[in-house]
Amino acid sequence: MHRKAGIAPPQPVVIVVEKLKSCGHTAYIAGGAVRDMIIDQRRPGDWDIATSATPAEVSSCFEHVVPTGLAHGTVTVIEEGMSIEVTTYRHDGPYVDGRRPEHVVFLDDIAADLARRDFTINAMAFDPTTGELVDPYGGVSDIEARLIRCVGDPAERFSEDKLRMLRAVRFAATLGFSVDSSVVDAARALAPGIVQVSVERIMDELVKTVRAPKPGAALVLMEDMGLAPYILPELCCEVGEEERKALYAACDRLHPEPKERFAALLSPLGPNGARIALARMRVSNQFSITVSRIIEGAQNLGQNPSDYELRLTASRVGQDCLLPAVRLNRALCRQGTGSLAVADLGSEGIEAVESLEERAGSVLAAKPALRIADLDISGKEVMEATGLSQGPRVRIVLQRLLDQVLHDPSANKKECLLEMATGIAEEMEQELA
Ligand code: ATP
Ligand code: MG
Repeated sequence: MHRKAGIAPPQPVVIVVEKLKSCGHTAYIAGGAVRDMIIDQRRPGDWDIATSATPAEVSSCFEHVVPTGLAHGTVTVIEEGMSIEVTTYRHDGPYVDGRRPEHVVFLDDIAADLARRDFTINAMAFDPTTGELVDPYGGVSDIEARLIRCVGDPAERFSEDKLRMLRAVRFAATLGFSVDSSVVDAARALAPGIVQVSVERIMDELVKTVRAPKPGAALVLMEDMGLAPYILPELCCEVGEEERKALYAACDRLHPEPKERFAALLSPLGPNGARIALARMRVSNQFSITVSRIIEGAQNLGQNPSDYELRLTASRVGQDCLLPAVRLNRALCRQGTGSLAVADLGSEGIEAVESLEERAGSVLAAKPALRIADLDISGKEVMEATGLSQGPRVRIVLQRLLDQVLHDPSANKKECLLEMATGIAEEMEQELA
């Protein structure tokens, strides 16, 4: 079959295929890059090449190679500064643990290599030097039907590698495709087996899923496949299916930023519960802290936050987390999830996300003091003005000054603060007396 693909491969990729062929081997662009070229909507992330050449033969064809994954037949070729993975056609040996093949067998036939791949849309190969497209499983027609189908029997393919169930969810999210009912049925039967897969591989797919523009429908699919209790066990213990689905829908209203979307998914756990769940998921500390701050911010904001409440929230959770927290707060209010203390949704009306986001943006643009360090007064100056000696009371004065300034940013002037500091210190004196 010949077909003119939509997106042209970069020159170095074509050169690598040409060189392999001139050395007497066959070689194709294979997998995700071919899919993305045909879909013609996004540039492929990586341009993987599959070849009949063994890793040793690939290495001898090129000057600059890095032996990245020799056991799996992968060599990285550096051509004109571009890193291109070249993998020998292979067949996966028996899957002993539902995760990875015990060993791989090198082959010299592209069709056999495509047979080991997960979905028809990922099981195509393209020769950029001739325009030949190898599509033994109907990948093109599935792309046209916007459908995810397995290569072969879904139950068998999912039994080999349980992660493929979640990969179906990921491709549904990133491509906006439907998943064939045979795939959903097989996943339903095999969902508990996903626990055999390492949390790192699961998170890789989950993060790619939530990075999609609108992951809501795919997350509902994950729920319908019965995967949710294994992927998000903490959430499933906390809330029922209906509320979980409302949270998945809420994700669509947020920016396609994993931290923001994870904040939505874990919001019913609160900031601390979210951190515990994220520790299990082995994400970075920074990721986990940001997610929990976004949740805390969204909770603090309540239904109709004033400018002071916006500044107070930014002060507590950090200004970078304010806008994500605003969006999460609105998404949860609009979705009517019980995760936030939203009183009576109908009674007062909720400020639209755009206008609250705009207002929060203006609040931050005014560069208000949000931390003690931003105050136009130092601890030393507080001590001089009040006669307090170094200790926790100075900190209390500064904290109260900050609170005043959060109420009225124009009060962040030395003279004004010195006067307020004296007043606060006197009040404290009286309270203690
Ligand atoms: P992306 O654009 O996100 O990189 P991709 O399709 O390239 O998507 P990868 O995970 O990089 O996805 O995998 C590259 C190719 O390898 C896939 O297109 C598929 O053909 C094959 N593949 C990857 N993982 C599996 C798996 N678990 N089971 C079967 N085939 C797989
Ligand atoms: Mg890839």
